[in-house]
Amino acid sequence: MLKLFDSYTKKKRAFRPLRKGKVTFYGCGPTVYSSVHIGNLRTFLFYDLLRRLFEFSKLEVTQVMNITDVGHMMADADEGEDKMEVSAKESGQSPQEVAEFYARQFFRDIDRLNFRRADVYPKASEHVTEMIRLIGRLLDRGHAYKVRHGDGGTSVYFDVSTFPDYGKLSGNRLDDLNPGARIEVRDEKRHPADFSLWIHNPKHLMQWEAPWGSGYPGWHIECSAMAIKYLGETIDVHAGGEDNKFPHHECEIAQSECATGHEFSRYWLHVTHLLVDGEKMSKSKGKFFTLDDLLEKGFSARAVRYLLLSSHYRQTLNFTMHGLDSATATLDRLDSFADTLNRHSGNGKGVRVNPAVAARKGFVAALNDDLNVPNALAVLFDYVREANERMAKDELTVSERSDADRLMKTVGQLLGFTFGRTVGDDDVSSSVKALVEKREQARKEKAFSEADRIRLELLDRGYEIEDTSDGPVIKRK
Ligand code: AMP
Ligand code: ZN
Repeated sequence: MLKLFDSYTKKKRAFRPLRKGKVTFYGCGPTVYSSVHIGNLRTFLFYDLLRRLFEFSKLEVTQVMNITDVGHMMADADEGEDKMEVSAKESGQSPQEVAEFYARQFFRDIDRLNFRRADVYPKASEHVTEMIRLIGRLLDRGHAYKVRHGDGGTSVYFDVSTFPDYGKLSGNRLDDLNPGARIEVRDEKRHPADFSLWIHNPKHLMQWEAPWGSGYPGWHIECSAMAIKYLGETIDVHAGGEDNKFPHHECEIAQSECATGHEFSRYWLHVTHLLVDGEKMSKSKGKFFTLDDLLEKGFSARAVRYLLLSSHYRQTLNFTMHGLDSATATLDRLDSFADTLNRHSGNGKGVRVNPAVAARKGFVAALNDDLNVPNALAVLFDYVREANERMAKDELTVSERSDADRLMKTVGQLLGFTFGRTVGDDDVSSSVKALVEKREQARKEKAFSEADRIRLELLDRGYEIEDTSDGPVIKRK
Protein backbone atom coordinates (compact mmCIF):
# COMPACT_ATOMS: atom_id res chain seq x y z
CA MET A 1 0.00 0.00 0.00
CA LEU A 2 1.45 3.32 -1.11
CA LYS A 3 1.72 6.02 1.53
CA LEU A 4 2.48 9.67 0.79
CA PHE A 5 3.30 12.55 3.09
CA ASP A 6 0.60 15.12 2.48
CA SER A 7 1.72 18.67 3.31
CA TYR A 8 -1.86 19.83 3.76
CA THR A 9 -2.75 17.44 6.59
CA LYS A 10 0.94 17.17 7.55
CA LYS A 11 0.55 13.40 7.76
CA LYS A 12 1.70 10.33 5.93
CA ARG A 13 -1.52 9.03 4.40
CA ALA A 14 -2.47 5.88 2.50
CA PHE A 15 -2.85 6.85 -1.13
CA ARG A 16 -6.36 6.34 -2.47
CA PRO A 17 -7.12 7.99 -5.79
CA LEU A 18 -10.51 9.49 -6.49
CA ARG A 19 -11.24 7.03 -9.31
CA LYS A 20 -10.19 3.44 -8.85
CA GLY A 21 -7.13 2.51 -10.86
CA LYS A 22 -6.49 6.06 -12.12
CA VAL A 23 -4.38 8.94 -10.89
CA THR A 24 -4.46 12.58 -11.87
CA PHE A 25 -1.21 14.30 -11.10
CA TYR A 26 -0.16 17.94 -11.53
CA GLY A 27 3.38 19.14 -10.88
CA CYS A 28 4.44 22.77 -11.22
CA GLY A 29 6.86 23.03 -14.10
CA PRO A 30 9.60 25.46 -15.09
CA THR A 31 9.36 29.17 -15.68
CA VAL A 32 11.16 29.30 -18.99
CA TYR A 33 13.01 32.59 -18.60
CA SER A 34 16.36 30.89 -18.11
CA SER A 35 17.89 27.40 -18.02
CA VAL A 36 16.51 24.96 -15.48
CA HIS A 37 19.10 24.12 -12.84
CA ILE A 38 19.61 20.84 -11.04
CA GLY A 39 17.53 22.16 -8.10
CA ASN A 40 14.52 22.43 -10.40
CA LEU A 41 15.49 19.04 -11.78
CA ARG A 42 15.46 17.53 -8.29
CA THR A 43 11.79 18.48 -8.03
CA PHE A 44 11.01 17.30 -11.56
CA LEU A 45 12.83 14.00 -10.96
CA PHE A 46 10.64 13.47 -7.95
CA TYR A 47 7.61 13.74 -10.27
CA ASP A 48 9.25 11.20 -12.57
CA LEU A 49 9.86 8.81 -9.69
CA LEU A 50 6.29 9.20 -8.46
CA ARG A 51 4.94 8.56 -11.94
CA ARG A 52 7.05 5.40 -12.20
CA LEU A 53 5.81 4.22 -8.82
CA PHE A 54 2.17 4.84 -9.78
CA GLU A 55 2.69 2.92 -12.99
CA PHE A 56 4.44 0.12 -11.15
CA SER A 57 1.36 -0.04 -8.87
CA LYS A 58 -0.74 -0.56 -12.03
CA LEU A 59 -2.37 2.84 -11.79
CA GLU A 60 -3.21 4.65 -14.99
CA VAL A 61 -1.52 8.03 -14.70
CA THR A 62 -2.52 11.33 -16.28
CA GLN A 63 0.28 13.73 -15.53
CA VAL A 64 0.39 17.43 -16.32
CA MET A 65 3.40 19.67 -15.97
CA ASN A 66 2.97 23.28 -16.96
CA ILE A 67 5.38 25.56 -18.73
CA THR A 68 5.12 29.05 -17.23
CA ASP A 69 5.79 31.67 -19.89
CA VAL A 70 3.92 34.68 -18.50
CA GLY A 71 2.96 36.24 -15.18
CA HIS A 72 5.63 34.82 -12.83
CA MET A 73 7.06 37.88 -11.10
CA MET A 74 10.59 38.25 -9.85
CA ALA A 75 11.02 37.00 -6.25
CA ASP A 76 7.66 35.17 -6.59
CA ALA A 77 6.01 38.34 -5.27
CA ASP A 78 2.74 39.90 -6.32
CA GLU A 79 4.37 42.86 -7.93
CA GLY A 80 7.58 43.70 -9.72
CA GLU A 81 8.56 42.62 -13.18
CA ASP A 82 7.53 39.50 -15.04
CA LYS A 83 10.54 37.15 -15.19
CA MET A 84 9.87 36.49 -18.88
CA GLU A 85 9.98 40.16 -19.74
CA VAL A 86 13.15 40.80 -17.75
CA SER A 87 14.86 37.99 -19.65
CA ALA A 88 13.45 39.20 -22.99
CA LYS A 89 14.76 42.72 -22.41
CA GLU A 90 18.19 41.42 -21.37
CA SER A 91 18.55 39.23 -24.43
CA GLY A 92 16.90 41.57 -26.94
CA GLN A 93 14.41 38.86 -27.91
CA SER A 94 10.66 38.59 -27.61
CA PRO A 95 9.26 36.79 -24.54
CA GLN A 96 8.01 34.09 -26.94
CA GLU A 97 11.49 33.53 -28.35
CA VAL A 98 12.94 33.33 -24.85
CA ALA A 99 10.24 30.83 -23.82
CA GLU A 100 10.79 28.66 -26.84
CA PHE A 101 14.55 28.58 -26.37
CA TYR A 102 14.46 27.58 -22.70
CA ALA A 103 11.54 25.18 -23.11
CA ARG A 104 13.56 23.34 -25.76
CA GLN A 105 16.51 23.18 -23.38
CA PHE A 106 14.24 21.87 -20.62
CA PHE A 107 12.98 19.02 -22.82
CA ARG A 108 16.53 18.18 -23.87
CA ASP A 109 17.58 18.01 -20.20
CA ILE A 110 14.72 15.78 -19.13
CA ASP A 111 15.39 13.50 -22.10
CA ARG A 112 19.04 13.19 -21.17
CA LEU A 113 17.99 12.39 -17.62
CA ASN A 114 15.76 9.58 -18.87
CA PHE A 115 12.44 11.02 -17.72
CA ARG A 116 9.17 9.34 -18.53
CA ARG A 117 7.31 12.15 -20.27
CA ALA A 118 4.21 13.70 -18.68
CA ASP A 119 1.02 13.47 -20.73
CA VAL A 120 0.63 17.20 -21.26
CA TYR A 121 3.01 20.16 -20.97
CA PRO A 122 0.59 23.07 -21.29
CA LYS A 123 1.94 26.56 -21.81
CA ALA A 124 0.37 29.29 -19.70
CA SER A 125 0.22 31.72 -22.63
CA GLU A 126 -1.95 29.26 -24.55
CA HIS A 127 -4.52 28.95 -21.76
CA VAL A 128 -5.42 32.53 -21.01
CA THR A 129 -9.03 31.93 -22.16
CA GLU A 130 -9.42 29.27 -19.46
CA MET A 131 -7.87 31.64 -16.89
CA ILE A 132 -10.24 34.46 -17.86
CA ARG A 133 -13.17 32.07 -17.46
CA LEU A 134 -11.97 31.03 -13.99
CA ILE A 135 -11.46 34.63 -12.92
CA GLY A 136 -15.00 35.35 -14.20
CA ARG A 137 -16.34 32.59 -11.94
CA LEU A 138 -14.51 34.08 -8.96
CA LEU A 139 -15.92 37.53 -9.70
CA ASP A 140 -19.45 36.08 -10.03
CA ARG A 141 -19.16 34.29 -6.71
CA GLY A 142 -17.86 37.36 -4.88
CA HIS A 143 -14.34 35.99 -4.26
CA ALA A 144 -12.62 38.55 -6.44
CA TYR A 145 -12.84 42.28 -7.00
CA LYS A 146 -11.88 44.70 -9.72
CA VAL A 147 -9.75 47.76 -9.27
CA ARG A 148 -9.96 50.59 -11.80
CA HIS A 149 -6.77 52.41 -12.68
CA GLY A 150 -6.40 56.07 -13.63
CA ASP A 151 -6.01 55.18 -17.33
CA GLY A 152 -9.32 53.32 -17.35
CA GLY A 153 -7.75 49.84 -17.17
CA THR A 154 -8.79 47.19 -14.64
CA SER A 155 -6.88 44.72 -12.46
CA VAL A 156 -8.55 41.87 -10.61
CA TYR A 157 -7.58 40.59 -7.17
CA PHE A 158 -8.59 37.56 -5.16
CA ASP A 159 -10.22 38.54 -1.89
CA VAL A 160 -8.58 36.33 0.76
CA SER A 161 -11.09 37.35 3.43
CA THR A 162 -13.71 35.25 1.58
CA PHE A 163 -11.76 32.02 2.10
CA PRO A 164 -11.39 31.16 5.79
CA ASP A 165 -8.98 28.29 5.04
CA TYR A 166 -6.43 30.63 3.45
CA GLY A 167 -3.08 29.82 5.04
CA LYS A 168 -3.90 26.23 5.92
CA LEU A 169 -1.28 24.69 3.66
CA SER A 170 1.61 26.94 4.59
CA GLY A 171 0.64 27.59 8.18
CA ASN A 172 0.49 31.32 7.54
CA ARG A 173 -2.39 33.03 9.28
CA LEU A 174 -4.13 35.94 7.63
CA ASP A 175 -3.65 38.10 10.71
CA ASP A 176 0.08 37.55 10.46
CA LEU A 177 0.25 38.34 6.77
CA ASN A 178 0.86 41.94 7.43
CA PRO A 179 2.60 44.37 5.16
CA GLY A 180 6.23 43.52 4.62
CA ALA A 181 8.33 40.44 3.94
CA ARG A 182 7.11 38.72 0.80
CA ILE A 183 3.84 40.49 0.19
CA GLU A 184 4.06 44.04 -0.97
CA VAL A 185 1.18 46.25 -0.04
CA ARG A 186 -0.60 48.07 -2.76
CA ASP A 187 -3.11 50.69 -1.80
CA GLU A 188 -5.62 49.25 -4.19
CA LYS A 189 -5.71 45.93 -2.33
CA ARG A 190 -8.30 45.41 0.39
CA HIS A 191 -5.99 43.09 2.33
CA PRO A 192 -2.21 42.85 1.90
CA ALA A 193 -2.52 39.11 1.22
CA ASP A 194 -5.00 39.61 -1.65
CA PHE A 195 -3.25 38.45 -4.80
CA SER A 196 -3.38 39.31 -8.49
CA LEU A 197 -5.60 37.31 -10.79
CA TRP A 198 -5.37 39.79 -13.65
CA ILE A 199 -2.85 42.56 -14.00
CA HIS A 200 -3.43 45.75 -15.93
CA ASN A 201 -0.15 47.23 -17.09
CA PRO A 202 0.00 48.84 -20.54
CA LYS A 203 3.82 48.57 -20.53
CA HIS A 204 3.74 44.78 -20.34
CA LEU A 205 4.75 43.19 -23.66
CA MET A 206 2.24 40.34 -23.51
CA GLN A 207 -1.41 41.46 -23.46
CA TRP A 208 -4.74 39.68 -23.69
CA GLU A 209 -8.33 40.96 -23.83
CA ALA A 210 -10.66 40.05 -20.97
CA PRO A 211 -14.27 41.23 -20.48
CA TRP A 212 -12.96 43.69 -17.85
CA GLY A 213 -10.16 44.99 -20.07
CA SER A 214 -6.70 44.18 -21.37
CA GLY A 215 -3.89 42.79 -19.26
CA TYR A 216 -2.20 39.52 -18.38
CA PRO A 217 -2.86 36.74 -15.85
CA GLY A 218 -1.21 36.31 -12.46
CA TRP A 219 1.03 33.29 -11.94
CA HIS A 220 -1.21 31.37 -9.51
CA ILE A 221 -4.35 31.34 -11.68
CA GLU A 222 -2.37 29.64 -14.46
CA CYS A 223 -1.83 26.41 -12.60
CA SER A 224 -5.43 26.24 -11.35
CA ALA A 225 -6.83 26.82 -14.85
CA MET A 226 -4.56 24.27 -16.52
CA ALA A 227 -4.97 21.65 -13.78
CA ILE A 228 -8.76 21.93 -13.96
CA LYS A 229 -8.77 21.86 -17.75
CA TYR A 230 -6.71 18.69 -18.11
CA LEU A 231 -7.41 16.85 -14.86
CA GLY A 232 -10.78 17.99 -13.55
CA GLU A 233 -11.95 20.07 -10.61
CA THR A 234 -10.55 17.69 -8.01
CA ILE A 235 -7.17 16.17 -8.72
CA ASP A 236 -5.38 13.43 -6.82
CA VAL A 237 -1.90 14.84 -6.45
CA HIS A 238 -0.43 18.29 -6.74
CA ALA A 239 3.32 18.66 -6.27
CA GLY A 240 6.07 21.23 -6.38
CA GLY A 241 9.21 22.39 -4.68
CA GLU A 242 8.87 23.60 -1.08
CA ASP A 243 9.01 27.25 -2.14
CA ASN A 244 5.79 26.67 -4.10
CA LYS A 245 3.87 26.05 -0.87
CA PHE A 246 3.50 29.75 -0.22
CA PRO A 247 2.24 31.83 -1.82
CA HIS A 248 1.76 29.77 -5.00
CA HIS A 249 -0.06 26.66 -3.82
CA GLU A 250 -1.86 28.45 -1.02
CA CYS A 251 -3.32 30.80 -3.64
CA GLU A 252 -4.10 27.93 -6.02
CA ILE A 253 -6.14 26.22 -3.31
CA ALA A 254 -8.03 29.40 -2.45
CA GLN A 255 -8.99 30.35 -5.98
CA SER A 256 -9.73 26.80 -7.21
CA GLU A 257 -11.89 25.85 -4.24
CA CYS A 258 -13.74 29.17 -4.30
CA ALA A 259 -14.41 28.85 -8.03
CA THR A 260 -15.55 25.22 -8.03
CA GLY A 261 -16.82 24.65 -4.50
CA HIS A 262 -14.81 21.38 -4.36
CA GLU A 263 -11.58 20.23 -2.80
CA PHE A 264 -8.82 21.08 -5.32
CA SER A 265 -6.19 18.44 -4.63
CA ARG A 266 -6.43 15.38 -2.39
CA TYR A 267 -2.67 15.19 -1.70
CA TRP A 268 -0.08 17.97 -1.67
CA LEU A 269 3.55 16.91 -2.02
CA HIS A 270 6.56 19.16 -1.64
CA VAL A 271 10.20 18.53 -2.42
CA THR A 272 12.82 20.01 -0.10
CA HIS A 273 15.23 22.33 -1.84
CA LEU A 274 18.50 21.30 -3.28
CA LEU A 275 21.23 23.37 -1.66
CA VAL A 276 24.63 24.42 -2.82
CA ASP A 277 27.13 25.58 -0.20
CA GLY A 278 24.30 25.32 2.31
CA GLU A 279 22.01 27.73 0.44
CA LYS A 280 19.01 27.15 -1.83
CA MET A 281 20.13 26.61 -5.39
CA SER A 282 18.42 29.43 -7.22
CA LYS A 283 18.48 31.28 -10.49
CA SER A 284 17.85 34.67 -8.97
CA LYS A 285 20.85 34.33 -6.63
CA GLY A 286 22.94 33.19 -9.58
CA LYS A 287 24.16 30.24 -7.54
CA PHE A 288 23.31 27.20 -9.57
CA PHE A 289 24.49 24.39 -11.81
CA THR A 290 22.74 23.31 -14.96
CA LEU A 291 22.91 19.79 -16.32
CA ASP A 292 25.17 21.12 -19.09
CA ASP A 293 27.62 22.51 -16.52
CA LEU A 294 27.99 19.04 -15.03
CA LEU A 295 28.21 17.21 -18.35
CA GLU A 296 30.96 19.61 -19.36
CA LYS A 297 32.86 18.63 -16.24
CA GLY A 298 32.73 15.03 -17.47
CA PHE A 299 29.95 13.64 -15.27
CA SER A 300 27.22 11.54 -16.87
CA ALA A 301 23.55 12.51 -16.87
CA ARG A 302 22.99 9.13 -15.27
CA ALA A 303 25.18 10.06 -12.28
CA VAL A 304 23.27 13.33 -11.90
CA ARG A 305 20.01 11.42 -11.97
CA TYR A 306 21.28 8.98 -9.36
CA LEU A 307 22.57 11.70 -7.04
CA LEU A 308 19.34 13.69 -7.15
CA LEU A 309 17.18 10.62 -6.61
CA SER A 310 19.20 8.82 -3.99
CA SER A 311 18.30 11.01 -1.03
CA HIS A 312 14.76 11.24 0.32
CA TYR A 313 12.78 14.00 -1.37
CA ARG A 314 11.87 15.61 1.97
CA GLN A 315 15.46 15.65 3.16
CA THR A 316 17.87 18.46 2.51
CA LEU A 317 20.45 17.59 -0.11
CA ASN A 318 23.57 19.69 -0.39
CA PHE A 319 25.01 19.37 -3.86
CA THR A 320 28.74 18.72 -4.19
CA MET A 321 31.01 17.39 -6.92
CA HIS A 322 32.13 14.79 -4.42
CA GLY A 323 28.51 13.58 -4.26
CA LEU A 324 28.58 13.14 -8.02
CA ASP A 325 31.82 11.16 -7.81
CA SER A 326 30.19 8.83 -5.28
CA ALA A 327 27.09 8.51 -7.48
CA THR A 328 29.34 7.53 -10.40
CA ALA A 329 31.16 4.94 -8.27
CA THR A 330 27.89 3.48 -6.98
CA LEU A 331 26.50 3.12 -10.47
CA ASP A 332 29.73 1.39 -11.53
CA ARG A 333 29.24 -1.04 -8.67
CA LEU A 334 25.66 -1.78 -9.71
CA ASP A 335 26.67 -2.13 -13.38
CA SER A 336 29.42 -4.54 -12.49
CA PHE A 337 27.01 -6.52 -10.29
CA ALA A 338 24.55 -6.78 -13.20
CA ASP A 339 27.35 -7.89 -15.55
CA THR A 340 28.65 -10.51 -13.12
CA LEU A 341 25.12 -11.78 -12.63
CA ASN A 342 24.72 -12.04 -16.35
CA ARG A 343 27.84 -14.14 -16.70
CA HIS A 344 27.28 -16.26 -13.63
CA SER A 345 26.51 -19.92 -14.24
CA GLY A 346 23.92 -20.14 -11.47
CA ASN A 347 25.07 -23.66 -10.64
CA GLY A 348 25.49 -23.13 -6.92
CA LYS A 349 23.59 -24.77 -4.07
CA GLY A 350 22.11 -21.60 -2.70
CA VAL A 351 20.23 -20.79 0.47
CA ARG A 352 16.79 -21.96 1.48
CA VAL A 353 15.01 -18.63 1.57
CA ASN A 354 15.71 -16.84 -1.68
CA PRO A 355 17.15 -13.48 -0.58
CA ALA A 356 16.65 -11.87 -4.00
CA VAL A 357 12.90 -12.19 -3.67
CA ALA A 358 12.97 -10.69 -0.17
CA ALA A 359 15.21 -7.87 -1.37
CA ARG A 360 12.83 -7.02 -4.20
CA LYS A 361 9.93 -6.94 -1.75
CA GLY A 362 11.87 -4.78 0.67
CA PHE A 363 12.90 -2.41 -2.11
CA VAL A 364 9.34 -1.87 -3.30
CA ALA A 365 8.03 -1.59 0.28
CA ALA A 366 10.51 1.20 1.05
CA LEU A 367 9.44 3.14 -2.03
CA ASN A 368 5.80 2.65 -1.11
CA ASP A 369 6.62 4.26 2.21
CA ASP A 370 6.55 7.86 0.95
CA LEU A 371 9.22 7.14 -1.69
CA ASN A 372 11.94 6.33 0.75
CA VAL A 373 14.74 5.83 -1.77
CA PRO A 374 17.58 5.70 0.82
CA ASN A 375 15.90 2.80 2.62
CA ALA A 376 15.18 1.07 -0.68
CA LEU A 377 18.81 1.44 -1.73
CA ALA A 378 20.00 0.12 1.64
CA VAL A 379 17.99 -3.07 1.02
CA LEU A 380 19.46 -3.31 -2.47
CA PHE A 381 23.06 -2.82 -1.35
CA ASP A 382 22.72 -5.38 1.44
CA TYR A 383 21.62 -7.88 -1.12
CA VAL A 384 24.27 -6.93 -3.70
CA ARG A 385 27.04 -7.29 -1.11
CA GLU A 386 25.82 -10.71 -0.04
CA ALA A 387 25.12 -11.94 -3.57
CA ASN A 388 28.57 -10.81 -4.75
CA GLU A 389 30.12 -12.96 -2.03
CA ARG A 390 28.05 -15.94 -3.03
CA MET A 391 28.79 -15.46 -6.72
CA ALA A 392 32.51 -15.33 -5.93
CA LYS A 393 32.11 -18.74 -4.28
CA ASP A 394 29.88 -19.94 -7.12
CA GLU A 395 26.98 -20.47 -4.77
CA LEU A 396 24.13 -18.83 -6.66
CA THR A 397 21.31 -21.09 -7.82
CA VAL A 398 19.56 -20.80 -11.18
CA SER A 399 16.39 -19.59 -9.56
CA GLU A 400 18.15 -17.00 -7.42
CA ARG A 401 20.03 -15.79 -10.47
CA SER A 402 16.79 -15.15 -12.28
CA ASP A 403 15.23 -13.55 -9.18
CA ALA A 404 18.26 -11.31 -8.79
CA ASP A 405 17.88 -10.36 -12.42
CA ARG A 406 14.23 -9.52 -11.74
CA LEU A 407 15.28 -7.43 -8.73
CA MET A 408 17.68 -5.38 -10.86
CA LYS A 409 15.03 -4.88 -13.53
CA THR A 410 12.55 -3.66 -10.90
CA VAL A 411 15.12 -1.28 -9.42
CA GLY A 412 15.87 -0.02 -12.92
CA GLN A 413 12.23 0.38 -13.86
CA LEU A 414 11.40 2.31 -10.69
CA LEU A 415 14.48 4.50 -10.53
CA GLY A 416 14.91 4.89 -14.29
CA PHE A 417 18.13 3.00 -15.04
CA THR A 418 19.30 -0.10 -16.83
CA PHE A 419 22.28 -1.70 -15.22
CA GLY A 420 25.31 -3.35 -16.77
CA ARG A 421 27.81 -2.06 -19.28
CA THR A 422 25.56 -2.79 -22.21
CA VAL A 423 23.12 0.05 -22.44
CA GLY A 424 19.44 -0.78 -22.84
CA ASP A 425 17.37 1.01 -25.41
CA ASP A 426 15.31 2.81 -22.79
CA ASP A 427 18.36 4.06 -20.90
CA VAL A 428 19.90 6.17 -23.56
CA SER A 429 18.67 9.52 -24.75
CA SER A 430 17.26 10.03 -28.22
CA SER A 431 20.22 12.26 -29.08
CA VAL A 432 22.69 9.43 -28.33
CA LYS A 433 20.56 7.05 -30.40
CA ALA A 434 20.58 9.56 -33.24
CA LEU A 435 24.39 9.82 -33.07
CA VAL A 436 24.74 6.03 -33.22
CA GLU A 437 22.49 5.94 -36.28
CA LYS A 438 24.39 8.77 -37.90
CA ARG A 439 27.65 6.88 -37.35
CA GLU A 440 26.15 3.75 -38.90
CA GLN A 441 25.08 5.76 -41.91
CA ALA A 442 28.53 7.32 -42.26
CA ARG A 443 30.14 3.87 -42.09
CA LYS A 444 27.81 2.56 -44.79
CA GLU A 445 28.75 5.49 -46.97
CA LYS A 446 32.41 4.83 -46.20
CA ALA A 447 32.75 8.30 -44.69
CA PHE A 448 35.18 6.93 -42.12
CA SER A 449 36.53 10.18 -40.78
CA GLU A 450 32.95 11.36 -40.08
CA ALA A 451 32.20 8.00 -38.42
CA ASP A 452 35.30 8.43 -36.29
CA ARG A 453 34.37 11.97 -35.33
CA ILE A 454 30.98 10.69 -34.11
CA ARG A 455 32.69 7.83 -32.25
CA LEU A 456 34.79 10.39 -30.35
CA GLU A 457 31.74 12.52 -29.65
CA LEU A 458 29.96 9.48 -28.19
CA LEU A 459 33.03 8.65 -26.14
CA ASP A 460 32.97 12.16 -24.83
CA ARG A 461 29.41 11.57 -23.70
CA GLY A 462 30.40 8.36 -21.94
CA TYR A 463 29.58 5.70 -24.53
CA GLU A 464 31.62 3.19 -26.49
CA ILE A 465 30.24 1.49 -29.57
CA GLU A 466 30.97 -2.17 -30.21
CA ASP A 467 30.28 -3.21 -33.78
CA THR A 468 28.83 -6.72 -33.86
CA SER A 469 27.30 -8.82 -36.64
CA ASP A 470 23.89 -7.76 -35.25
CA GLY A 471 24.77 -4.09 -35.55
CA PRO A 472 26.20 -1.58 -33.08
CA VAL A 473 25.97 -2.26 -29.34
CA ILE A 474 26.20 0.72 -27.01
CA LYS A 475 28.36 0.25 -23.93
CA ARG A 476 29.21 2.53 -21.09
CA LYS A 477 32.79 3.73 -21.14
P1 AMP B 1 10.54 27.82 -11.35
O1 AMP B 1 11.18 27.61 -12.69
O2 AMP B 1 11.23 28.84 -10.52
O3 AMP B 1 9.06 28.12 -11.50
O4 AMP B 1 10.67 26.47 -10.55
C1 AMP B 1 10.27 25.22 -11.05
C2 AMP B 1 10.18 24.21 -9.93
O5 AMP B 1 11.46 23.99 -9.34
C3 AMP B 1 9.25 24.65 -8.79
O6 AMP B 1 8.45 23.54 -8.41
C4 AMP B 1 10.21 25.03 -7.69
O7 AMP B 1 9.64 24.86 -6.42
C5 AMP B 1 11.35 24.07 -7.91
N1 AMP B 1 12.64 24.52 -7.36
C6 AMP B 1 13.20 25.74 -7.49
N2 AMP B 1 14.41 25.79 -6.85
C7 AMP B 1 14.61 24.55 -6.32
C8 AMP B 1 15.68 23.95 -5.55
N3 AMP B 1 16.77 24.60 -5.22
N4 AMP B 1 15.52 22.64 -5.18
C9 AMP B 1 14.41 21.95 -5.53
N5 AMP B 1 13.39 22.46 -6.25
C10 AMP B 1 13.48 23.75 -6.65
ZN1 ZN C 1 2.21 26.04 -10.33
